[in-house]
Amino acid sequence: MSYTVINPATGETVTEVAHLDAADTDAAVAAAVTAQRAWAAVAPADRARVLRRFADAVDADVEHLARLETTNSGHPITQSRWEAGHVRDVLEYYSGAPERLIGQQIPVAGGMNVTFHEPLGVVGVITPWNFPMTIASWGFAPALAAGNAVVLKPAEWTPLTSIRLGELALEAGLPEGLFQVLPGRGSVVGERFVSHPDVRKLVFTGSTAVGKRIMAGCADQVKRVTLELGGKSANIVFADADIERAAATAPYSVFDNAGQDCCARSRLLVQRSVYDRFMAHFETAVQGVRVGDPLDETTEVGPLVTEAHRASVASFLTDDVPVAFRGSAPDGPGSWFAPTVVTPERGARVATEEIFGPVVAVLPFEDEADAIALANDTEFGLSGSIWTRDLGRGIRVARGVAGGNLSVNSHSSVRYTTPFGGFKQSGLGRELGPDAATHFTDTKNVFFASE
Ligand code: NAP
Ligand code: MG
Repeated sequence: MSYTVINPATGETVTEVAHLDAADTDAAVAAAVTAQRAWAAVAPADRARVLRRFADAVDADVEHLARLETTNSGHPITQSRWEAGHVRDVLEYYSGAPERLIGQQIPVAGGMNVTFHEPLGVVGVITPWNFPMTIASWGFAPALAAGNAVVLKPAEWTPLTSIRLGELALEAGLPEGLFQVLPGRGSVVGERFVSHPDVRKLVFTGSTAVGKRIMAGCADQVKRVTLELGGKSANIVFADADIERAAATAPYSVFDNAGQDCCARSRLLVQRSVYDRFMAHFETAVQGVRVGDPLDETTEVGPLVTEAHRASVASFLTDDVPVAFRGSAPDGPGSWFAPTVVTPERGARVATEEIFGPVVAVLPFEDEADAIALANDTEFGLSGSIWTRDLGRGIRVARGVAGGNLSVNSHSSVRYTTPFGGFKQSGLGRELGPDAATHFTDTKNVFFASE
């Protein structure tokens, strides 16, 4: 079995990637078990040094990784460079963790009580195709830092940068077997991570449907699980906001990465009193989004990841969906889709389901209470933005919206120094931030009797 990688900007064949089967997966997990035992015994400072060397190897390969991602996934080259640099930064940040996995000494009678953060063993990371290398690093970097081995299954559509990261790890001196990249089907390699007793934690990013199935499978062995799932996040624009700035930035909050972003603000809630003024500025901004050749340094948005995904996005735009306006996209070969602004009713499918493409639903609201209620009227709760000049309102609405990653007067979602994850059906657990390495450990409490 294998998968043919197609460049989504040109339709040309890039390469063929061989798929592993369940027996290959078992052999990789066995090698990981052995490698992990040795790795956990390495002195913390030496584990830190190896991770810094891995970061250096990624740094030296940024341009190569970026071109691979652009060829495989269609990301604009400037964005792909940022992604590769982010992997380096995540590795550097968590290279500080081995020497800082600090336990507690707790006062007790008759002796001394100490806690240890023990590694879990082998961690399975399953990634989606929208941000292949960055999302992989959020799992493997803190997991390795905490003394675990990692097996990584990239999405079938986008394996190339993950495979390259596996090579760089070996070149940098990570022990053989400690970090293995296993291309294959989710239903084969991914399912085996769930059922294999030696995989002690799963980190899954992808659709809510597959995430639920994985969580149910993990229950059987009380396997730890972190889930980063879907979203239908709101960008809320109040009448007192800087309307020009809110309108100028809104396209990038949903059309970046062609909308293939779990944090995409795919619902744009605009206070009715400024609706017309906002939409006029927004139309100009959408028409200014540069959609095109991802190798062009000035391109802001590339194609969708595959032809199959383009068809899936298009299927949401049935004849009854009111389209307000569209941006532009190239003709010809490639999985192109023009940024699209729709104005549906609140309960319509385009207003409630995750499309994962460059489509935004604009919905008017009346007042603060209505905005919060509308923002929360979803099973998801991943991210969101709030635009207002009223500090008190910014605080109230940020506390009122049920989401894991909110920003006021900006669209920021991801910093490796801050925790990331979802409320409700957008996920379980948190990645990144100062505590991520401890999420790849179990706490051991030891009492030493003094008598
Ligand atoms: P997906 O179909 O759930 O696939 C995600 C990964 O799971 C892929 O590697 C896939 O392998 C694998 N997989 C599929 N079925 C599996 C199974 N039965 N057991 C184990 N693994 C399995 O999602 P996607 O289509 O790649 O990505 C889009 C979705 O991801 C969106 O819904 C988006 O919201 C979500 N997402 C969330 C975040 C977040 O941080 N919250 C970030 C990015 C994406 P194959 O490729 O072989 O199918
Ligand atoms: Mg899928």
